[in-house]
Amino acid sequence: MDLQQHVLVVPCPAQGHVKPLIKMAYNLAYHGIKVTFANTEHVGGKILAAMSESDKEQCPIRLVTYSDGLESSPEKRDGPGMMDDLKKVMPDNLEKLIKQINDSDNEPITCVIADLSVGYILEVARKLGLKQVAVWPAGPGSLALSLHVPKLIETGIIDENGSPIGNELIRLSEEVPALKSSELTWSCPGNPTVQKMLLDYSLDVKQAAENASIVLCNTYYNLDSSSCAMIPNVLPIGPLPAIKKLNPSSGTLSSQDSTCISWLDKQPANSVIYIAFGSTTVFSQKQFNELALGIELSGHSFLWVVRPNIVNGSFPEYPNNFLERTAARGKIVEWAPQEEILAHTSVSCFFSHCGWNSTMEGLSHGVPFLCWPYMWDQFFNKNYICEMWKVGLSLEHDEDGMISRHEIKTKIYDLLTDDGVKTNALKLMENAKKSVNEGGSSYENFKSFIKYLEA
Ligand code: UDP
Repeated sequence: MDLQQHVLVVPCPAQGHVKPLIKMAYNLAYHGIKVTFANTEHVGGKILAAMSESDKEQCPIRLVTYSDGLESSPEKRDGPGMMDDLKKVMPDNLEKLIKQINDSDNEPITCVIADLSVGYILEVARKLGLKQVAVWPAGPGSLALSLHVPKLIETGIIDENGSPIGNELIRLSEEVPALKSSELTWSCPGNPTVQKMLLDYSLDVKQAAENASIVLCNTYYNLDSSSCAMIPNVLPIGPLPAIKKLNPSSGTLSSQDSTCISWLDKQPANSVIYIAFGSTTVFSQKQFNELALGIELSGHSFLWVVRPNIVNGSFPEYPNNFLERTAARGKIVEWAPQEEILAHTSVSCFFSHCGWNSTMEGLSHGVPFLCWPYMWDQFFNKNYICEMWKVGLSLEHDEDGMISRHEIKTKIYDLLTDDGVKTNALKLMENAKKSVNEGGSSYENFKSFIKYLEA
């Protein structure tokens, strides 16, 4: 009898990493692979709390947890040093976990699939004689950029601390959007310590990517073939995954407010702006007010995800009487079933921070983007959306560094009256579908990945 393949999937403990890896894990399970999914105790608890009883019953993968070592200093989980803290404990804790699983399970783990952000744990897999596969849940462009860090230093484009030496645009190739120096994924102007940490993280990612037998990526090849060509052993399997197979509430760290779907059902087709800035973006109170007033000035209906910590980690205050004035045409929730919303015919555009998951989810549903990137790879993603794929528009800061209500109103108008952007978005949606449907490039790549696991 063939050995049952059993993979251990390990995401970085953050929303934007857990969700795509859970999608991938579900897809593997639907293809007959046994999957154990390892979260930190902190994240694992949140995932379970956000799952309904039927989600739990239908869950095709086993969820397990390990300690992140931060039980006595939980505030560090949201700090910039979290990745360093994790790196100190994760290899040992994962090794213990694998041994425990293998002692008690008659189908031992045969392969570790690790998020490249914690890619150093593939060393543990190597030591234990298991297959090692990496996943990059972000775009291939940002991974190609990490792979280029030593070259950027060597050629004098950035210094050893990641600061650009000149002011010129940085380009990995003619086919990839250029980056301003402030848009480098590790850029943290005014905070050299954090910038160095982010640069070191990019180097860790590079090393793990180069050592992995396969680097799975949440994209499809033709979307950015040039960046894919710069990544050794890349296997694009996105957009992750065929959404219809999944229960959309799986993999979120907060409960999704599904009342927005019944609210959307009552709105006319193509009439609602969906506004959501991912799991970590924060605004100043002043900027939050401008955002609210800009949405109001646009005159459109809106569905807005306002996390309880969106204003510098705290509850926001709305401008005077904003909620009363917009009650008839606005719906605000703390966390939403984003993919269901983007698939809804009432949604006209996606006002987004351009996290990679949001980018792929909007793109998979043909929804034009209004882009407001905040940090990390989001600026690069915005350049892809606006310059390369031409499926969105970007907001510009004023001389005080603010995005004004007038800028928001104007760009919403420009976006919603731009037929070219909508046509391009629909074209990309079709391409994305083709890639994951039978015979498509991502479909075939996923099949060959299953064969690799079963070999
Ligand atoms: N998301 C969600 N509900 C929300 C907002 C976001 O389920 O109200 C999900 C979204 O579908 C995406 C993830 O959270 O899969 C956010 O990932 P992304 O890479 O876009 O941004 P990050 O949170 O990493 O900045």
